[in-house]
Amino acid sequence: MRVSPSTASGNGLPPGSEPSETPQTAAAAPQRKTRARQAETRLGLVRRARRMNRELATAFPDAHCELDFTTPLELAVATILSAQCTDERVNLTTPALFARYPDARAYAEANRAELEEYIRPTGFFRNKASSLIGLGQALLERHDGELPHTLTELVQLPGIGRKTANVILGNAFGVPGITVDTHFGRLVRRWGWTDEEDPVKVEHIVGALIERKEWTMLSHRVIFHGRRVCHSRKPACGACVLVKDCPSFGIGPTDPEAAAKLVKGPERDHLLELVGR
Ligand code: SF4
Repeated sequence: MRVSPSTASGNGLPPGSEPSETPQTAAAAPQRKTRARQAETRLGLVRRARRMNRELATAFPDAHCELDFTTPLELAVATILSAQCTDERVNLTTPALFARYPDARAYAEANRAELEEYIRPTGFFRNKASSLIGLGQALLERHDGELPHTLTELVQLPGIGRKTANVILGNAFGVPGITVDTHFGRLVRRWGWTDEEDPVKVEHIVGALIERKEWTMLSHRVIFHGRRVCHSRKPACGACVLVKDCPSFGIGPTDPEAAAKLVKGPERDHLLELVGR
């Protein structure tokens, strides 16, 4: 199916509702969104959110944590380094780092200047070095050098906030977790799943909409979609698989040609195929 304003429901209303009489414009989107939200029941929201998750599963069957790691500690370190840095840059930095610092003791006993040089390309390297040394020391003192398996214990470690803890739980320990990063928060607000800005509130609200077993994969899919299609400044609305269920359709280009040019990433051909391009 070719996605365009005329073929997508794109009106921001729940399926089955009457479309707006006005043409799709970015200026009309907020008003449309408000009407859609008022009309939607709780059950309708749950169904729509789960439907969107299924659409994203089709769009991104290989969604995954884009940080390279082989152990929980490596994932923790990579996630700490990913603050204010792209995953690509972190992945270029970590092979040498992981070879030099293979365990918690290595970080605990690290020479600060040497460690800083290893992680300098990721930015904020002094703060990050402090976190890594502190993490190594805390793991040795409290957990025999191993990462603990609970959110409560993880968030008490240096450099590990709730977002990082959920990344570790979901990807290293198989415990379902919702990772609310900048992409996740932006997208779920655009979708009208919540208006909340606070990441912890967003986590709980989304957790109540989506089945627990889906939490980790949902996080990957939403972040993939945010990086490849639903960009912060120019979302590729006209080439998006979520047009039927997204109340923000129209905040980015709706012309299929223009939108297709905005779609990024290795899944680009697959994504465009799904929308009939
Ligand atoms: S790209 Fe547009 S239609 Fe797709 S999810 Fe983002 S705002 Fe909605």
